Amino acid sequence: SSSSTGLYSPRDPLEVLAAGTLERSIFNSSSAWVVEFYASWCGHCVRFAPTWKELARDLQDWRPAVMLGVLDCAEKSNQKICSDFGITGYPTLKFFKAFSKKPEDGIRLFHHGDDIRSLRESVIATMERHKEVWPPACPPLEPISAAELNGFFQAYGVTYLALIFEKGDSFLGREVTLDMLQYENIAVRRVLKSNEELVRDFNVTAFPSGFLLVNNGSCSIIPVHMNSRALYTDFLRRLPGVFKGNTFSPTMLPSAEPETTTTPWRVADRRKVYMADLESAVLYTLRVEAARFPRLDKERLSALKQYVTLLVKYFPGRVVVMNYLRNLDLWLRPRTNISQNEWEEALRNKPELPYARLPENPLWVGCQGSKPELRGFPCSLWSLFHLLTVQEALLNPHDPSPSEVLPAMRKYVQYFFGCRECAEHFEGMAEESMHKVKHKEGAVLWLWSRHNRVNARLAGSPTDDPRFPKIQWPPQDMCSSCQVIINGRRMWDEREVLRFLKTHFSRGNIYLDFIK
Ligand code: FAD
Repeated sequence: SSSSTGLYSPRDPLEVLAAGTLERSIFNSSSAWVVEFYASWCGHCVRFAPTWKELARDLQDWRPAVMLGVLDCAEKSNQKICSDFGITGYPTLKFFKAFSKKPEDGIRLFHHGDDIRSLRESVIATMERHKEVWPPACPPLEPISAAELNGFFQAYGVTYLALIFEKGDSFLGREVTLDMLQYENIAVRRVLKSNEELVRDFNVTAFPSGFLLVNNGSCSIIPVHMNSRALYTDFLRRLPGVFKGNTFSPTMLPSAEPETTTTPWRVADRRKVYMADLESAVLYTLRVEAARFPRLDKERLSALKQYVTLLVKYFPGRVVVMNYLRNLDLWLRPRTNISQNEWEEALRNKPELPYARLPENPLWVGCQGSKPELRGFPCSLWSLFHLLTVQEALLNPHDPSPSEVLPAMRKYVQYFFGCRECAEHFEGMAEESMHKVKHKEGAVLWLWSRHNRVNARLAGSPTDDPRFPKIQWPPQDMCSSCQVIINGRRMWDEREVLRFLKTHFSRGNIYLDFIK
């Protein structure tokens, strides 16, 4: 028999692994992996191969959260690796949670039968048992609570939320959630039959049943009246505005130093927040500002770790960018001393992680200046930090504890912000009043009002772009209720300002214009 080609071909939607690629693929991967170690000469493996191929087709849209692989232990060049992985019988199915480090991290995938369904359910159950390391690309699979449902759209910025009401032992909701993970603009969550409050609110009598919530407040029954994953998935994928994102595209761009090139004027709407600016701020802080130091250690390193963790928690970025940041965060955590070279290497987009990357060059849209030296990075840094304070407040609506964004931002500015004069001014303001900020909404307003102070100080100065004069922000045409006139004096209504900021810096107001 032709053992060199094995039982699988590159055309199957799974990874055909070998001694040289196994560890590189599954260790430190942001995906969970399920690998079949087989021997092409083993009869049971031959009979099992069609099932494994069908499973791979069945789960192909769960990539990159879960990847399926195969390795032929009968291949001479693979024998050592199979023994390193402790494979003694064929086929052996092993599950490796995301960011596994060594062969022993692989655990046997238990399943009750050799049919697709029991294998699929076993993959989900095993993922959930090892949720301490959740693959970054994998949406939450746990049931939604009434509290989380409240404010879901504000926090997640999607157009649709599909709720699948089901019994605890049903896998439908989780399967549909995974089936939709590559699709933008929609989230899927399960609701358990035991959640009496939500079952009552939605008046649910049959399980499973689905509801479609839209961010404009509408709610309708999903017209699928049976327990069919395929019908639910098909219905959701056809919704207007729901489209397949490029979270799993194996193409790569060559890496290069960040640089700004002269580009045509990009027309921006000042009512919008642009993802291009936010990502450029992230890129610039990491690849330029933090890369200036021959060594990162002590307070400076801890400021950097805090900043990256903050991004992971609150930056509402695209999936590829979030994957990149999560990897970086995990890489940073155990480190106490980083050389410039190590840092640059850690920041490089890796060809083997196509779904975890940062754009190579900054691109300013809302922050584009009328001359290359104007606006750009400082503008985007303000925007990023405003956004983070707002996201923190939106995600923790009832949490009275203090903001973690403000102190982290203070440290960032102190240790990294290249404009040292700006940093000193900012530190002066922080010293004076940051300790008085009580909670997360207070942090939003503190940053807003300090930024306005900076605007007032800089109005008319040489850094003031004539095309974008420094004003007290937001101007009336952006928020008419933000200012009130009391005794002939124009004053801010802080409640209205807060409401405005929460909308302006919400996920729903971030636009992907000009991002390729
Ligand atoms: P920016 O002031 O950068 O604002 C960016 C965007 O944020 C605006 O386009 C607007 O959409 C929005 N915005 C404006 N005001 C507010 C507000 N109050 N709340 C929320 N959003 C708002 N430059 C100096 O010359 N001296 C300094 O001391 C100095 N200190 C700085 C301190 C920090 C922490 C930062 C990040 C920057 C500092 N700068 C300083 C740079 C300066 O503030 C501007 O960022 C830069 O001149 C570019 O201005 P801009 O017109 O693009 O708007």
